[in-house]
Amino acid sequence: MTHSIQTEHISINALKVLKRLSGAGFQAFLVGGSVRDLLLGLHPKDFDVATDAHPDEVRELFRNSRHIGKRFKILHIRFGREIIEVATFRAHHDRESHEDNHADSGMILRDNVYGSFEDDVSRRDFTINALYYQPDEQKVQDLTGGIGDLEKRVIRLIGDPETRYREDPVRMIRAVRFAAKLNFRIDPDTAAPIRSLSHLLNDVPPARLFEEVLKLFMAGHAEQTFVLLKEYRLLEWLFPETVRALSPVAERLIALALRSTDERVRDDKPVTPAFLFAALLWPQLQAQCQSLQANGHSLLGAFHITYPAIINHQSSFTSLPRRYAIPMKEIWDLQFRLHRRQGRRVWTTFNHKRFRAAYDFLLLREAAGDKSGDLGQWWTEFQEHDASGKEAMIKELSDKPKKKPRNSKRSK
Ligand code: ATP
Ligand code: MG
Repeated sequence: MTHSIQTEHISINALKVLKRLSGAGFQAFLVGGSVRDLLLGLHPKDFDVATDAHPDEVRELFRNSRHIGKRFKILHIRFGREIIEVATFRAHHDRESHEDNHADSGMILRDNVYGSFEDDVSRRDFTINALYYQPDEQKVQDLTGGIGDLEKRVIRLIGDPETRYREDPVRMIRAVRFAAKLNFRIDPDTAAPIRSLSHLLNDVPPARLFEEVLKLFMAGHAEQTFVLLKEYRLLEWLFPETVRALSPVAERLIALALRSTDERVRDDKPVTPAFLFAALLWPQLQAQCQSLQANGHSLLGAFHITYPAIINHQSSFTSLPRRYAIPMKEIWDLQFRLHRRQGRRVWTTFNHKRFRAAYDFLLLREAAGDKSGDLGQWWTEFQEHDASGKEAMIKELSDKPKKKPRNSKRSK
C-alpha cells in the first residue's frame, strides 16, 4: 500500500479550512475517518479537522461557523451543503486527575478538556482513526502505529482496551462497525473484553445508541454488522427482545432486510430506519401476538395491544423517534391488511402511502419462509395490471368459493 494521499481526493472546503488555520499560525490537520478512508482508497463521507486553535479563535476566522455538540465543543463550518467539522485538540483525562468527569463506572461524562497534539492522539479510539494529515507537508503523522494496522487490516484500540471501553462503551459498537465496514479483523486484545463488558451499553443514553444503530445499519454493511453484533453479544443490549425471539425464519428475515438495505445504499437509493426497525422488531411482534392469540385475542386486537408495548420497551434501549415509529407501525399494520382483499379494501391498501414498503416487507417475509400462500405473487401481478385488469383480479377473488372457517364446529 502506498501511504500517499492525493490532494485532489480531499474536499476543497476542507483544504480551505486547513489553509486558513495554518495561515493564521495554528496547527491544523485532517483527521479520523477521512484520512483512514483516503489511505484505503475509499471515498470519505465527511472531513474532520483537528487544530490547536481554541473554538473562539476558529470562530473568528470563519464567519460561516457555529458551535454544536453537548459532549464536545465542536465547530461546524458550512460551505453550501458541505459541513467541515473542526475540533480543538482535546486531552484524554485519567480518573485521578479529573474525577468529576467520570461516572462511577469509569465512563466519561464530559470531554472538553483541551490538550496538546499528543493528548488528542491518545484520546482517539482506534489506531487507524488516529492518523493526522497535513496537506502542505503532504505528511501523515502516525503516533500509534495506525498505518501498520491499516496494512494488517486490524482494528486496534489505543491504550488498555478494558479502560477505554469503560470510558465509553460505544467504542465496543464502533469496533464492530469498522470491522464490518472495512472488512478488517478486530485485534485479539481489543476483542477479548467485549463480551464481558457489553452490559456497559446499559449506561449509554438510548438517544445516543439510536444514533449509533443508524450508523451501524445504514452505512452499506448492515448484514455483516448484524453477524458481528451477535457474535460479540452486543445485540442483546441493543435489541434484547429480538435476540430472544430469533427463530430461523426471523433470522433469515432480518438478514434479508439488512441485505436489501445494503444493496439500496450501494445503489444510492433512499433507505429508511422505519423499514429496518420494522424488520428488527418483527420477530417479537409475532411472538407476542401469537401468545395473546392463544389466550383468545383476535389477531388485530393482539397487534394493537402489542405494538405500543414493543415501542415502549425498545425505547429504553435505543430511542425510537415517532417519525420512524409511526411508519414502522404502518408497515406492520399493512402486513395484516395485505391479506384482506375484499373489494374496496384492496384499493385502500394499494393507495396507502406505505404500500410499497409494506409490499417489499411482505416479499422479504415470504423469502424468509413465512407462509402467506400466494399473497406476494398476487400483489405483484396486481401492480402489473392496468385499472380494468386490477378490477378483474379483485372480482376473481370474490367469486372464489369461500373457505370454510377453520374453527367451524358445525356438525352434519
Ligand atoms: P465514519 O467514516 O463512519 O464517519 P469516523 O472514523 O470518521 O468514521 P466519526 O464517528 O465520524 O468516525 O468520528 C471521527 C473521529 O473521532 C474518529 O475517527 C475517532 O478518531 C474519533 N472518535 C469518534 N468517536 C470516538 C469515541 N467514542 N472515542 C474515541 N474517539 C472517537
Ligand atoms: Mg467521520
